[in-house]
Amino acid sequence: DYPFPVEEEGKTGAKKIVHRLLRSKLFIPVVRDQPMDKEMSQSQLLMQKTGMIRRASLGMYMTLPLAQRAMENLIKIIDEEMQGVGGQKLTMPLLVSKDLWEKTGRWETTGAELIKVKDRKEEEYCLAPTHEEIFTSLVANERLSNSNFPLRLYQIGNKYRDEIRPRFGLVRGREFLMKDLYSFDQTRVEAVATYNDIKGAYHRVFDRVGLKYACVEADSGNIGGSMSHEFQVLTGSGEDTVVSCECCGYQSNIERATSKPSPSTKFSPADKIKKIAIKVVSDKMVKGAKEKTTTIATIWCSDIDTINPFSIKSYFNNIDSFEPFRFNQAAQQQDPSYTYIDFIDSTIKDNDHVLLQLKQHQKEQQQQQQKEEEKEEDTTSNNASVEYGSFRVVKEGDHCAQPNCSNGGELKLQQGIEVGHIFYLGTKYSSKLGANMKDKNGKNQPIEMGCYGIGVSRLLAAMIESKRDDRGIVWSKCVAPYKAIIIPFSDQRNRGSYESAEHLYDLLIRDPFLRNQIVLENRLDMSIGKRINEANLIGFPYLIFVNNNASKKNGEDVFEVEDRDNGQKSYFTAFELYH
Ligand code: ATP
Ligand code: MG
Ligand code: MG
Ligand code: MG
Repeated sequence: DYPFPVEEEGKTGAKKIVHRLLRSKLFIPVVRDQPMDKEMSQSQLLMQKTGMIRRASLGMYMTLPLAQRAMENLIKIIDEEMQGVGGQKLTMPLLVSKDLWEKTGRWETTGAELIKVKDRKEEEYCLAPTHEEIFTSLVANERLSNSNFPLRLYQIGNKYRDEIRPRFGLVRGREFLMKDLYSFDQTRVEAVATYNDIKGAYHRVFDRVGLKYACVEADSGNIGGSMSHEFQVLTGSGEDTVVSCECCGYQSNIERATSKPSPSTKFSPADKIKKIAIKVVSDKMVKGAKEKTTTIATIWCSDIDTINPFSIKSYFNNIDSFEPFRFNQAAQQQDPSYTYIDFIDSTIKDNDHVLLQLKQHQKEQQQQQQKEEEKEEDTTSNNASVEYGSFRVVKEGDHCAQPNCSNGGELKLQQGIEVGHIFYLGTKYSSKLGANMKDKNGKNQPIEMGCYGIGVSRLLAAMIESKRDDRGIVWSKCVAPYKAIIIPFSDQRNRGSYESAEHLYDLLIRDPFLRNQIVLENRLDMSIGKRINEANLIGFPYLIFVNNNASKKNGEDVFEVEDRDNGQKSYFTAFELYH
């Protein structure tokens, strides 16, 4: 017989009451019929559906309790790994003064992404998109001696960026949670050692949360510096492209790759009648076509008879990069007579026929319609404004050009979500902000720095994006918001198994590791099917079923426990579950 609420007496004699986590009381506002929108990603849909997030305004989200719990689990793992390499946690203001940002020149160079605000005295600030300036100024104002190095300081806090295109929920917000660490070393050699230490800690974070990811060479962009790596979660819907060679292990963001696959295909108007031609075929022919075709884009073209690569170029740039291809500007510059397209969707294979849908501009369309009205009706063309171009994907030698790649291995393209980015900065910030230390000869030298970011809220979304099934979210167990849910088979008339479920619950939460981690499903007015579907949607790692008709072991009830990840079922008595 297990009493409830469980009461514990503290040292002072005050009673501590342990509450049951009853499903009906938890603020998990599930929306079963959340529609999928073209601009949505699967993770965003799932997070909305399971009541993890709600949109507040463009690129700003409310993090509701379920997401908050998962986020805190992630933070715990990140804290452990950062502190494992000597990171010391602190908190910086989110409003940072203009003065500091002017000293590094970034007040101007950051552009429209920087959110600038004024106080009542007309003093200007920015809502920090990253915190190099203020961390460097902190260190500049303290007198650090030899024995203080290496110094590694970090925080986990919100960042603000007025993204041109906030989308996919937490993946690209205007307000988002970042872990940012800044390192300070005396020499370049020590700074590089720090870089490698922290890179190792990043690998441990992403290994622990069970992600399929790649650590790739990267561009250092507006942050600056000379050495930089990104951690990319490899999943079909990422906005970045990762190039990799399986032979030598070379991996890079395509933005800075020195080995790149040649464009998958190229075409020009002249090619219409040649080998890899764009065949302009009619609607009918496409419908009846025997070859495999994939519609990759709808292009508005001013004149479909002479497909001008430049007009296609500009239209490509207007198309959502979510599509499985990208216009290759670098190749275009080298060889302007062709239009180059990289396919970044591995489902498109060599020799597949790709269908390009070409549409005329509305204006042109109207003109053409007018012309046609003047002419006799043309019975062969039933839809004058829509034409299709189909071309075959022909890959040219896609081989690795890295000097240490002896076999010139084949290059592979994958989509990725950038969840972490590390930079060796050198003295870029320290020299501008006067963060110095004395060298061996007593001379002032700027401190060697590095900076290291993890997009914590983006990471949470990327985890959901990359691990889910048709029933819902599949959490890695260390990040899941709860460990388990107990689901009784009872309904309102027959409460037998609900009482057993309560008993089981009260026994399990005596274990401090399980307390606050197990939910008791108490909505007996809901059908058992719905209860199970919802538990799968939210992704409780273990579903514990309580059914009074279940078998018994030594006179004790046996409970079925289902692992959400692999569907495996095991059977335990309450006593076995508790231990
Ligand atoms: P992106 O290329 O996706 O715009 P970034 O290169 O501008 O990202 P960094 O300056 O490298 O981003 O910031 C460090 C990390 O912060 C990124 O690796 C990413 O995980 C995260 N991050 C950046 N922008 C956003 C955003 N708008 N929403 C959520 N997370 C973000
Ligand atoms: Mg950015
Ligand atoms: Mg980037
Ligand atoms: Mg980056």
